[in-house]
Amino acid sequence: MRSYANSKKGRSRMRRPLLAGNWKMNGLMRSIGELDRLIKGLDSNCSLDVMICPPATLLAAFAKVAAGTGVSIGAQDCHPKPGGAYTGDISAEMLRDAGAQAVIVGHSERRIHHGEQNADVQAKALAAQRAGLFAIVCVGETQEQRERGQTGEVIATQLLGSLPHEASGTSLVVAYEPVWAIGSGLTPRPDDVAEVHRAVRAHLTERFGQEGDKIRILYGGSVKPENARDLLSVADVDGALVGGASLKAEEFLGIIAAGVQTGRSPVDL
Ligand code: PEP
Repeated sequence: MRSYANSKKGRSRMRRPLLAGNWKMNGLMRSIGELDRLIKGLDSNCSLDVMICPPATLLAAFAKVAAGTGVSIGAQDCHPKPGGAYTGDISAEMLRDAGAQAVIVGHSERRIHHGEQNADVQAKALAAQRAGLFAIVCVGETQEQRERGQTGEVIATQLLGSLPHEASGTSLVVAYEPVWAIGSGLTPRPDDVAEVHRAVRAHLTERFGQEGDKIRILYGGSVKPENARDLLSVADVDGALVGGASLKAEEFLGIIAAGVQTGRSPVDL
């Protein structure tokens, strides 16, 4: 791994680790205090990218508070169309207008509770790119699929169907989130994470050529301050998507500190 030169020129060619907090359907206006504590607790020279994805109701307010700090703001889902008669939905353009820089698409909770298929996820990822957001595309196997030895096949099918046709390190992030690890306190062994991330990397480079090497691959599923160091040290793990443990600034800061302690400099490509 070559050394990290924090120059603007260099940045565009690097995989800078990302720790993104997915707040899911949690948070009220008073939760701004938690964001404030996170911002204040963050080292100004933090070598990682830090993002919070609050519910849509808090996006604009969070973006205002986070402007000019080390924390960026993302959204949790978007509609594929830019606008129209879709009651209750929010387009990627609207999210960007509210201050989001990224949007999570294809989270297993959307796939399970809203019946989203790979094609829906791909349409949302394309919408994110159209609006100038980067898409965080989630993939992951269920417990049953893992027990049947189908993990590799499931991930490959999800990637094939969910990723946009073109992508770069600035327009796409992939999050590997085993469904059985989300919110359960269970995590895969580092070797198993390494195996999946290696396969995802191979898929990305095969599909997007050199750009595939610049796309960050996050691990997600029960990341906590106690296990973050082990998980974030795994090869090809370029950060984490964190649910429950991102709701409290102190806990998320613990994960960020663990990420910094791995000493993993951004990969210079
Ligand atoms: C998630 O939902 O993206 C997630 C990783 O949740 P948790 O960290 O709570 O398992």
